[in-house]
Amino acid sequence: MAAEQSLMSELIDEQADSPRSHPVNRGTRLLPAAVALLSMLVFVVAAPFAKMPLPQVPAFIPVYESALILNDLITSVLLFGQCVIARSRALGALASGYLYTSAIALLHMLSFPGLFSPTGLLNAGPQSTAWIYMFWHAGFPLFVIAYALLKDKKQSRTMGNTVGSGGLVFVVGTVLCLAAGMVGLATAGERLLPEIILNNHYTPTMRWVAGSTWGFCLLAFAVLYRQRWRSTIDLWLMVVLCVWICDVALSAVFNGGRYDLGFYIGRFYGMCAASFVLLLLLVENTFLHSRLAAALDELKRLATTDPLTGVANRRAFDAALTAHWQRGVKDRSTLSLLMIDIDFFKRFNDRYGHVEGDRCLVLVAECLARTVRRGSDLVARYGGEEFVALLPETDAESAVHVGQRMCDAVAALAIPNAGSPPMPSVTISVGVASRIIETGVEMTDLTKAADHALYLAKAAGRGRVEEAVLTA
Ligand code: GH3
Ligand code: MG
Ligand code: MG
Repeated sequence: MAAEQSLMSELIDEQADSPRSHPVNRGTRLLPAAVALLSMLVFVVAAPFAKMPLPQVPAFIPVYESALILNDLITSVLLFGQCVIARSRALGALASGYLYTSAIALLHMLSFPGLFSPTGLLNAGPQSTAWIYMFWHAGFPLFVIAYALLKDKKQSRTMGNTVGSGGLVFVVGTVLCLAAGMVGLATAGERLLPEIILNNHYTPTMRWVAGSTWGFCLLAFAVLYRQRWRSTIDLWLMVVLCVWICDVALSAVFNGGRYDLGFYIGRFYGMCAASFVLLLLLVENTFLHSRLAAALDELKRLATTDPLTGVANRRAFDAALTAHWQRGVKDRSTLSLLMIDIDFFKRFNDRYGHVEGDRCLVLVAECLARTVRRGSDLVARYGGEEFVALLPETDAESAVHVGQRMCDAVAALAIPNAGSPPMPSVTISVGVASRIIETGVEMTDLTKAADHALYLAKAAGRGRVEEAVLTA
């Protein structure tokens, strides 16, 4: 029972915390650290050539951004799922961040000049797309900061018992409105914003704007870094932020404008950044499934096993009897039931104590389980010091034979029971009932008959097998 409870609480914790929240060890830190270092290295090598013009491939943007939008949307859905299961505001904030980037990337693509219309859709002006890009890249780190702060304040399970669909709709609606609002500012309110791009080239103001975006990324990185307790997702978010800093630096600071080397490599960084957390979620979901399957198997085992003796429990016996009975009705097969009871066990307990009594139960159970030979036979603890053996496709004669083997095997254990009159060691009495299963015969008839046979064995002096005489 204790084992069942501990497994249940483990499963509940597993579900509530999610594997991403598990603390990281040295091994888990290596891969994100290597990826962050590699991206820095690529950045250092590419930065001096960032202004190198490359062929203008307008189709690159819709292809790249479609993949990005889907990546972020899937990440967001998975995180919202985790947020609901774990009742975590922090994961909700992160899921909102990915939804925001997915939505704003879509609007960025629509507004990009030369893709769907020469000047871009959404009534975009010459500054709109560049500003949307900045709102996009400055917005995400703010969501990461919210995630880290909520997690830090240990508010991860303060959303009540469930997160209602109304709450989710509200959050999703708010995030989409925010993305739309920022895009509205960059398009309808374009005149209010300073000029950051001119003839496909960035103006000096862009450095300040990109610098601020950088600042948000660095701030988010610092907030994540200063957490005492970092999880795998935190590490990968830190890598995402490193990559974003490189992305913004290459595609808005060190490069000269659209379609140069910095622009293309920056986009490549953006794609990497969008994939890290998604890949992590997918990998961990796979691990979670395998752990869940193993835990389920263990739970099934615990639910059908008697914790003291290790043989099947009453529940497993009832299920097996019902299954054999239902199957037997179709093919009129014979089923035998042995009801087994330890003789004078109360006296055993009184004389040797309950601990020895338990040890005796274990020895007898193991002995009974060893005595049956067919894979389809089942020995179970019926309750207290009573056991049952279910022998499918076994007639009365063979069942009595098995019962006698059990009596002999338990006697051969020679467990002292000085208070037992027939002989000074532990013995068992066995009642055998055997029946051809057919319509009109009740399953309980077999149990009652075996019980009656056991009573006969007790009455006849114990330490023996008696067979029930069944009427057809
Ligand atoms: P009989 O030969 O008529 O069966 O006599 P008995 O003493 O075995 O029968 P009774 O039903 O009077 O006593 C059964 C005893 O089994 C009572 C209880 O102390 C003991 N018992 C039942 N379950 C457990 C258990 O899990 N552990 C231990 N140690 N003893 C148990
Ligand atoms: Mg007994
Ligand atoms: Mg009894």
